[in-house]
Amino acid sequence: MPLEKLIQGHQKFKKSFDENKELYLQLANRGQHPKVLWIGCSDSRVVPEFIVNADAGDLFVMRNIANIIPPSDAQDICTSSVLEYAVLELKVEHIIVCGHTGCGGITALVKGVPNDSKVYDWLKYAHKAKTSTNKNDKSNILEAIKNNILLQAEHLLSFDFIKNSMNNLKIHKWLYDMHSGDISYYEDKESKWIKVDQKE
Ligand SMILES: [Zn+2]
Repeated sequence: MPLEKLIQGHQKFKKSFDENKELYLQLANRGQHPKVLWIGCSDSRVVPEFIVNADAGDLFVMRNIANIIPPSDAQDICTSSVLEYAVLELKVEHIIVCGHTGCGGITALVKGVPNDSKVYDWLKYAHKAKTSTNKNDKSNILEAIKNNILLQAEHLLSFDFIKNSMNNLKIHKWLYDMHSGDISYYEDKESKWIKVDQKE
């Protein structure tokens, strides 16, 4: 995408900004009060605000390769500061961990990454999501993607400030399907993934 397209995009945005000035000025003057922390993948094709049609101010967002949340003992300052600020300061009511089909990070994890890379170091927090040694099987990759969503949601509970906030906080495990545009959520009681109903 040439830079020119981004400039044109901004000009288009500015038009919409002016049309929705009330919302933007309210956000600018009164601060942000998002109810949702979204933890998603950095993948350029999975844009949180697009797939849930959210406005500015709706989502506090953290994106990284393979929507990973290193557990608290990993002492990853970037992810843990986002969690701390979202939960203790913004007092979000929901944390959504959203993975996606075709995730390059998890595919690399399953297929193998050069062990002298930063990506390799990062993916160690998803290692337990690996299910099989059959490297070329797509269903194994999908299984690992799903496992990883559950694993990262589990990592959230390794933080005391999250565990202690569970009365006011809900953790959601979501999977976005890049081919269909559907979102499925993991239902703990039934231990299965359920597609979000589509309405006309
Ligand atoms: Zn991804």
